[in-house]
Amino acid sequence: MSREQDDMLRRGIGMTSQRTRERLIQRLYEEGVSNPKVLEVIRRTPRHLFVDEALAHRAYEDTALPIGHNQTISQPYMVARMSELLLEAGPLDKVMEIGTGSGYQTAVLSQLVERVFSVERIKVLQDRAKERLVELNLRNVVFRWGDGWEGWPALAPYNGIIVTAVATDVPQALLDQLAPGGRLVIPVGAGEVQQLMLIIREEQGFSRRVLGAVRFVPLLNGPLA
Ligand code: SAH
Repeated sequence: MSREQDDMLRRGIGMTSQRTRERLIQRLYEEGVSNPKVLEVIRRTPRHLFVDEALAHRAYEDTALPIGHNQTISQPYMVARMSELLLEAGPLDKVMEIGTGSGYQTAVLSQLVERVFSVERIKVLQDRAKERLVELNLRNVVFRWGDGWEGWPALAPYNGIIVTAVATDVPQALLDQLAPGGRLVIPVGAGEVQQLMLIIREEQGFSRRVLGAVRFVPLLNGPLA
């Protein structure tokens, strides 16, 4: 028995979980997620391991859930949609993620691209996320405890950047760290008024696509112990 199956049984989720997982995939598909690789990765990634045990029974609902520290694990639809947008023009080798949180989006990305560089400002969340990825044997991820407004300049440029918290403006450092042709998927705005944006580094300048209203926790300032 795999560790994952063992874990599911131990928590009494068992077969129900497999059915609810299939239902989630069906729902994402109906809502317009069409990249089969993304759907497959979401199907096989055990989201219940990324939330508190008390919330595990809700892990396959298409909803954000609290992970402590006023933060949330992103809604599966958002994780799928943002991953699909990143991959729309073909495979990516170097992707930076801002806002590791539970590590769920990190885990999904790590199965879709060569390498993930994930930045988080809350140390305890990052440590827990690291442990989960090791448990799942997802080893192509490196973590940085720091401020996402600054990105991770030492390892730039990136072919893709994904931000999982809403920024009041697009951080200049992230634009600077995009490779030519690189893609940045980021929610921009404040409070109730937030738009998901796709920004691409063109030969000259940047193109921008607005993809619709979203709801994220804010991109805050500075690292936190
Ligand atoms: N993708 C994560 C979402 C977590 S919520 C998941 O599915 O679990 C957003 C995360 O962004 C939080 O963990 C929050 O601490 C982090 N964050 C907010 N501002 C940040 C900043 N300036 N730099 C790095 N991380 C930040």
